[in-house]
Amino acid sequence: MAKPIVAIVGRPNVGKSTLFNRIVGGRVAIVEGVPGVTRDRLYQDAEWNNRWFTLVDTGGLDYRDDDEIVSHIRKQAELAIEEADLVLFVVDARAGLTGTDEDVARVLRRSEKPVILVANKVEHFDKAHELYDFYRLGLGEPLPVSAAEGLNTGDLLDRLVKELPPVEEEENEDDVIKIAVIGRPNVGKSSLVNAILGEERVIVSNIPGTTRDAIDSYITRGGNKYSIIDTAGIRRRSKIGQSTERYSVIRSLRAVDRSDIVLMLIDAVEQLTDQDKRIAGYAHEKGRAAILVVNKWDLIEKDGRTANRYIENLREGLGFMQYAPVLFVSALTRQRVHRVLELVDYVSEQQNMRIATADLNQLLREAVLHNAPPQDKGRHLKIFYATQAGVKPPTFILFVNEPELMHFSYLRYIENRLRSAYGFEGTPIKLVMRKR
Ligand code: GDP
Ligand code: GDP
Repeated sequence: MAKPIVAIVGRPNVGKSTLFNRIVGGRVAIVEGVPGVTRDRLYQDAEWNNRWFTLVDTGGLDYRDDDEIVSHIRKQAELAIEEADLVLFVVDARAGLTGTDEDVARVLRRSEKPVILVANKVEHFDKAHELYDFYRLGLGEPLPVSAAEGLNTGDLLDRLVKELPPVEEEENEDDVIKIAVIGRPNVGKSSLVNAILGEERVIVSNIPGTTRDAIDSYITRGGNKYSIIDTAGIRRRSKIGQSTERYSVIRSLRAVDRSDIVLMLIDAVEQLTDQDKRIAGYAHEKGRAAILVVNKWDLIEKDGRTANRYIENLREGLGFMQYAPVLFVSALTRQRVHRVLELVDYVSEQQNMRIATADLNQLLREAVLHNAPPQDKGRHLKIFYATQAGVKPPTFILFVNEPELMHFSYLRYIENRLRSAYGFEGTPIKLVMRKR
């Protein structure tokens, strides 16, 4: 289920990150993260009154090549407006209204997106008169909060949940394999999608997706149905021109949310970027399967070891994603483009695989014999029994005596045993501990 996206925008130092952390780390439940995957969190799923949403701190986004702060802010706001379902526009009540605030507000007003104007750094609510200036922004009543102290943030969350769009009924397309094509601008997303479409029978193409930020194409091949979520497709129709096109994190997150399998495109000529790593980390945490597609392979001078060196580099850069197969293609010459959907079929089988309970427990007994579970101060971890609770991603529940005794490295060990026995190529595996 795709969750609505709530973007936090505002000029630097108004307290966006503080608010972000307050919301995701404080009073709301957060999804369990995988340690070491993404240290600088730009996005986090959060819940309030049973409504889930994805909170995005646009302030931390990567706009390295932008020197000018004002144009930076404007672009950030534009992207957020185009892609978020709701915008939290944060201003600094201590600093008062600034010209930059007015710039951002102008962009926000022109949009039809709901905006909540948040006046941060209000620690004394009797001084509400200090907020009058902000009415001039034309975005309604400013909601005073102190992100640092956690004052009034509950009211903000109540308001936020009220402004979210109604829950969208996701059309049930269980027999369709949903593929998200992710990667920096110019990596060749559109070219690859077109090359794939050119090879296959297209049922319906270029039907706008359920959301405005991607274009889905439906195809069949050998009895399988696929939908390809092309995040680049929208660019040509959007008001945002090529020149201001950024690696839109929000757009990518949404596509990942809606997908079963992520095609992570990497430019053979360039390095893996931090943004690539963040999106990959998100896909991993969400349990989506992934295929690393190195495009523009035609541009590379090759010797016998070039591909292996590339794979080593990718493995190093995406340490948490060792399971993802790597495919070298050229969308231009169509080299190995036909392999993409073959690999998708394979990975789809892998992520839907179910292991019989008897086999699973046999494997576990052998694993434990081979390498004893961790102990702490004389207490030994005992694993009684395991069962597979789900697929996409394959999820296993381990019934144990003391979940706290489990160690990350031992989980890794069990995962490796599972993988060497069954593969699970392309998909993360979830191991959940239950006390018995
Ligand atoms: P960002 O650049 O918009 O993400 O802003 P930060 O979250 O990094 O905060 C900028 C500065 O404002 C930091 O020094 C924070 O400690 C401070 N700050 C954030 N929220 C509050 C608040 O509610 N009250 C006060 N007094 N300071 C705050
Ligand atoms: P997108 O922004 O990720 O959708 O990238 P495009 O599909 O628009 O491609 C960006 C540029 O890279 C275009 O000029 C393409 O012709 C070029 N391109 C895409 N794939 C390849 C490839 O495999 N080899 C080469 N040499 N160029 C490519």
